[in-house]
Amino acid sequence: VRAARAVLEDGAHVLLAGAGAEAFARDRGLEMVEPFFFSTDARRQQLYRVRDTGRVVTDHEGAAMTKPPLDEDKKLGTVGAVALDMHGHLAAATSTGGMTNKRVGRIGDSPLIGAGTYADDRTAAVSCTGSGEMFIRVAAAYDVCARMAYGGATLEAATHAVVRQSLPAIGGTGGLIAVDRHGNLSLAFNTEGMYRGHARGDEAPKTAIFA
Ligand code: ASP
Repeated sequence: VRAARAVLEDGAHVLLAGAGAEAFARDRGLEMVEPFFFSTDARRQQLYRVRDTGRVVTDHEGAAMTKPPLDEDKKLGTVGAVALDMHGHLAAATSTGGMTNKRVGRIGDSPLIGAGTYADDRTAAVSCTGSGEMFIRVAAAYDVCARMAYGGATLEAATHAVVRQSLPAIGGTGGLIAVDRHGNLSLAFNTEGMYRGHARGDEAPKTAIFA
């Protein structure tokens, strides 16, 4: 997310990938780690389990193959954040390791503006998690904002249309977190649960897992 922020502040481009993105991040003095840093024993075990099935799965599906879904110790997946600041500006960020057993070179929805991440001061900020290919196909994050801008939908109605109708219609599983320009929140998902939390000003943060 720091690297994405640096791209934003640089202003010339919206999306950098691969070696060029790494060179840019290094140039900006961001902390770098070797790819092996992300190769933990738990992750390798998850990959080996899934590889034999030939499937490509989200984190919690991978964990669910030996333990119940949403196991506390295993749910270390995509992290998203959305915010409305005191000046009325909206922002969204999404960080992910992608899906287990994905093909090398696969790009998911998370970094794609409009698919897994989107923010527009006129409508809402949205960050998604789930089966990325489906979120790309329905332009999920942008569709939430488009429903609000063109159809006058409330945030709640827009997120539910995407999460409960558009995504399930093509087999998409997951959810999203969103805040609109008035500070309304929607934390919608079509899975058994989604780790989530929200805080407003100085209020104590609230967290939840299941529906
Ligand atoms: N949406 C992410 C991806 O497809 C995965 C996830 O959210 O768990 O890369």
